[in-house]
Amino acid sequence: MSESRPSPDNALVALYPGSFDPLHNGHVDIIRRAAGLFGRVIVAVYDTPDKRLLLTTAERIEWVREAVTRWTNVEAASYSTLTVEYAAARDARAIIRGLRATSDFDFEFQLALMNRHLNPDIEALFLMTSLDHAHLSSTLVKELAQHGAPVDDLVPAGVAEALRRKREQT
Ligand code: ADP
Repeated sequence: MSESRPSPDNALVALYPGSFDPLHNGHVDIIRRAAGLFGRVIVAVYDTPDKRLLLTTAERIEWVREAVTRWTNVEAASYSTLTVEYAAARDARAIIRGLRATSDFDFEFQLALMNRHLNPDIEALFLMTSLDHAHLSSTLVKELAQHGAPVDDLVPAGVAEALRRKREQT
């Protein structure tokens, strides 16, 4: 796993937004690769996505934070505004999104064009999923975890443990 560089004040910043409910290895792989391309990467946890959430925003942020400590140029934050507004507020030049199968494309295409309409200075950048993670989604991880199936090889160790604890509490 490549070590990241320290980020100078004028580092090129990228925002990687998402629900991260929960963070999984496909996300971590995108973060690792973005950290190698940009001076600074902000993993931006969207506070109120239009989907049923398993986790609180605090939990989603905490699990991202734990998983990215090895990269000194990556930070986690939450936001509740439009993504382009938050990107501009954090001086990000690019919004990173991960792409899996062609099914992601239509939505991401529409989103990227709308974001460009709102702020043409912020570029949408797409990183193709790694083959190992092409089948991974937060929805599937949640489904497996809720039924007590092992998710240890799909998510960071801290997330797997926290999902187990969460299941025991419910
Ligand atoms: P959303 O932002 O739509 O709520 P997620 O939080 O699940 O979706 O994902 C955040 C970002 O990570 C999105 O760009 C999504 O396409 C990408 N992503 C999700 N799963 C994978 C994967 N297995 N490989 C690569 N990128 C992924």
